[in-house]
Amino acid sequence: MKAFTFGAAAFAAAAVLGASPAAEAQQRFITIGTGGVTGVYYPAGGAICRLVNKDRAKHGIRCSVESTGGSVFNINTIRAGELDLGVAQSDVHFNAVRGLAQFAKEGPFAELRSVFALHPEPVTVMARKELNIRSFADFKGRKFNVGNPGSGTRASLEELLAAMGWKLSDFALASELRADEHGPALCDGKIDGFFFLVGHPSANIQDPATVCGAKLVPVTGPAVDKLVKEKPYYAKATIPGGLYPNNPQPTETYGVVATLVTSTRVPADTIYQVVKAVFDNFDEFKKLHPALAVLEPQNMVKDGLTAPLHDGALRFYREKGWVK
Ligand code: GLU
Repeated sequence: MKAFTFGAAAFAAAAVLGASPAAEAQQRFITIGTGGVTGVYYPAGGAICRLVNKDRAKHGIRCSVESTGGSVFNINTIRAGELDLGVAQSDVHFNAVRGLAQFAKEGPFAELRSVFALHPEPVTVMARKELNIRSFADFKGRKFNVGNPGSGTRASLEELLAAMGWKLSDFALASELRADEHGPALCDGKIDGFFFLVGHPSANIQDPATVCGAKLVPVTGPAVDKLVKEKPYYAKATIPGGLYPNNPQPTETYGVVATLVTSTRVPADTIYQVVKAVFDNFDEFKKLHPALAVLEPQNMVKDGLTAPLHDGALRFYREKGWVK
């Protein structure tokens, strides 16, 4: 036992001495832009970093997450070279590649690259329980949180309003609270409802459902049908009944998928190590947040990925035989 302890310690010391000059020489910091801390992007980014950091003595990469305003902010900040990676909704990702909507001014982001797809994000609308709201259209003339500028949520809301022929002025109040603030504002009666594209289950939805019995509201109708038919990034979705307290009914809606993106600026080796860390520890990854439990590698290498795969991701997926 004693000999074994000594042997292990000596081995560890030798490994540290042997590894440290190389690891120091290659020390690299990467930051992933996410969303509010009560959403799913933040813990999903945390899960990715945790797995990357497990092997940092080997590859020298230290990964950290940043809480941000969401998808549009993340892509703009990657473009500015101030974030290495970010999570973005597939609709926002599509518009960035093509220079549409929020990206019309800057034009197409040709250097944007896909890493992998993450969880589905249904359009999630909640209402105060006292109001008896039955559909999204019932919010006309009410106080509604439309999301902060820079969020993917806000971008998707604007596309829905345009399809419905509504304007922000159709709400009595269109507040721009961040996702971490809309639940408390709903339960305090400051707003009547909010809009959020998020994976499920999420603490952000769990909290108002528990604290004040907030209700999930269906988002259906001709405008939604038209969007789903016309836009490649939208699909019908159902939030299962019973996932949250006081919401036993399934909720019909539509939605997108979350994607992890980067740019050609980030070296292939770095992205290769990020992808390898996630897929070599995939069972652990899926357990790090319940919204990640549904993930399947064969979908993650293609769903919602408008931008080309980053070279480092492509190398790993080819080694696995997941892409040609
Ligand atoms: N989809 C949201 C956005 O881009 C963020 C969701 C989350 O934080 O999980 O605004």
